[in-house]
Amino acid sequence: MYNAFQVAKERFYLFAERVGLDRLYPRENLAERLTTPDRSVEVRLSLKLDDGSVQICNGYRVQFNDDRGPYKGGIRFHPVVDLDEVKALAFWMYIKTAVVNIPFGGAKGGIKVDYQALKPAEQERLTKRYAKVMISEFGAEKDIPAPDVNTGAREMAWIMDTWRMIHGRYQRGVVTGKPVEMGGSLGRATATGRGVIFCVEQAAKEIGLDLSSATASVQGFGNVGSASAVFLSELGAKVIAVSDYYGAVRNPRGLDIPALLLHVQEGGKVHEFAGGEAIARDDLFGEKVDVLVPAALENAINIENVDRIQAKLIAEGANGPISQDAGFVLMDKQVEVIPDVLCNAGGVTVSYFEWVQNRQEFYWDAQRVDDELRQIMVNAYQHVYETSQLHNCTKREAAYRIAIARVAEAAHRRGVQ
Ligand code: NAD
Repeated sequence: MYNAFQVAKERFYLFAERVGLDRLYPRENLAERLTTPDRSVEVRLSLKLDDGSVQICNGYRVQFNDDRGPYKGGIRFHPVVDLDEVKALAFWMYIKTAVVNIPFGGAKGGIKVDYQALKPAEQERLTKRYAKVMISEFGAEKDIPAPDVNTGAREMAWIMDTWRMIHGRYQRGVVTGKPVEMGGSLGRATATGRGVIFCVEQAAKEIGLDLSSATASVQGFGNVGSASAVFLSELGAKVIAVSDYYGAVRNPRGLDIPALLLHVQEGGKVHEFAGGEAIARDDLFGEKVDVLVPAALENAINIENVDRIQAKLIAEGANGPISQDAGFVLMDKQVEVIPDVLCNAGGVTVSYFEWVQNRQEFYWDAQRVDDELRQIMVNAYQHVYETSQLHNCTKREAAYRIAIARVAEAAHRRGVQ
């Protein structure tokens, strides 16, 4: 059975051995230290539903590593959330913040719940309850939540409001991904997709792909998937297939992405979109395209379906969308993969900008956010590219080599007491 935390640890050990972590820091046991979360909190949440009945849900927050700065990571509300999934996501967060070299560690939180089945007032009560029981974990210099699957600006506003109610004062930097009206950053809502596309542009140059005439498909049409699709189509690429949880839509001439986005914002499902033909959800993976962006959940491309993949380039918008064994198959097929810990780091990077703006109470315009994000993503991509050339390895291994070196050195200097 797939276990994301197991996968995350195996990957880390593989790369740590290649880096020679034990040789560089003898007797410090850093591999074990860096694969063991600092702190895991699991709580029971009782939610009173609108009909008066009570639903019990498990809530989690895992603070994995803060050697390089405060814990940072999103909150996911989803029926398959469990402690191991949250640990894996928290693990990847501290690797990611190290790859793009922003001064944070890694954390993640979640609630195991069918959040979309709840009524809006129930959603608010559950989010505020979660924030209340976790309140001593959160803080602008301690642990800073952000959106992930099924959470967004609305949930961040509720968490910030709970923090303010309990502490009796503002601390805007306690969450990122807030509404702009409450101190959120311009550009945060689309930042992850923006970062994905900055990476895709670099990779396209590297493999000689002209994006203005390229084809693409996008799995998942939420925050990351929809923004990735919008930016790809703005570059002239034809996005020929898009999926969500309920199905997929296809149009070989290219989907009208702004119209599809509007359709979804109005409550429609992607397969109901009139501008294409509905196809089975996972048939999206068999589409012959230049660029594939998996932007849904972990383990989407696995040993069962990897043979169907015909893309030249895969940009991991989601966290952990390619299983380890499927990754080896893609390597043999010479499919270029931009790893999640680099590719989707645009979200946490603009979260960092938001936190900086909150601390200064001085707000940037959208152009500055975009320029600074581009600079960080392009530099990180180049660093990963050069490291992969130097060690003749995949970009994933290169990204881990960079992250492990940064975090291990910080852990070593901090020492043990
Ligand atoms: P979201 O809730 O906004 O969207 C998720 C989308 O995936 C929805 O359209 C949903 O219908 C779809 N989906 C779910 N299961 C699917 C399936 N089996 N097949 C096809 N589509 C499916 O979530 P999001 O914030 O866009 O996050 C997506 C991924 O990106 C996650 O792995 C998340 O951890 C990662 N991520 C998000 C951010 C961010 O800023 N939101 C940042 C970095 C990484």
